[in-house]
Amino acid sequence: MRLQLVIAAAAMGIALPAQTAPTPAKAPTGYTDTPLIPGSKWRVHDDTRPRPSVITPGTFSTPDAPGKPPSDAVVLFDGKNLDAWRTATGEPAKWKVENGYLEVVPGAGSIMTRAEFGDSQLHIEWRAPSPPKGDSQGRGNSGIFLMGLYETQVLDCYHNLTYADGQAGAVYGQSPPLVNACRPPGEWQTYDIVYTAPRFKDGKIDVPGFVTTFHNGVIVQNHTQILGATEHRAVPKLVVHDPKGPLMLQDHHDPVRYRNIWIRPLGEVQSFISRPR
Ligand code: MG
Repeated sequence: MRLQLVIAAAAMGIALPAQTAPTPAKAPTGYTDTPLIPGSKWRVHDDTRPRPSVITPGTFSTPDAPGKPPSDAVVLFDGKNLDAWRTATGEPAKWKVENGYLEVVPGAGSIMTRAEFGDSQLHIEWRAPSPPKGDSQGRGNSGIFLMGLYETQVLDCYHNLTYADGQAGAVYGQSPPLVNACRPPGEWQTYDIVYTAPRFKDGKIDVPGFVTTFHNGVIVQNHTQILGATEHRAVPKLVVHDPKGPLMLQDHHDPVRYRNIWIRPLGEVQSFISRPR
């Protein structure tokens, strides 16, 4: 109705007063006499079911400037320093930080977060070197290792032929991206990754890990099952590990840059997959 009013008012050149905030609904807003949702302790529209937390969403990045993380994100790199990162042996990370980005220093080794994460939503932006150098796996190669074990490939795949399960957005050595959504080298690119960690029982995988990945806003992994820890020229390896692990960025000897890295631990997903099946 208001939309029609706005259109009519605009056509007549009349300014309408700003829309006021809606009056908050009064409790109860739900029900206590509805059936239980199958597999759940909550009723349909349950009035006692906890409401989600209110957060302030972030903003999108532009080619020149990183966006803002959501208010409840753990910021891993905000353009200033590498305080959240370490080397494999616990030393301060030695990659280059300048102009709001960090850059792989070839030979300095991969870096990992001091904090550890399990199920999570990760946002990370990367930029392949320009002008490009090398080809196939030798062009703008880095990687994002969830829990330090499962690589989402970072590679300059813009007019660069390589094997399918080694392309940008691949679960490396396991699952190629659904499409090649690479931007040219020198342009910032985004990954948004939703990850659920595998669960183990008696030294075996009980519930596998899964990854959903958007590359520059395009889905490239759709709830893809992770088969095991990343290997090169070998099948994925079974590694039994803790529910949480560090995020690792790979030094593959190319000066790939990163910016605007944040993560949101996902407790709700954890309770969803651990419910009775
Ligand atoms: Mg890599």
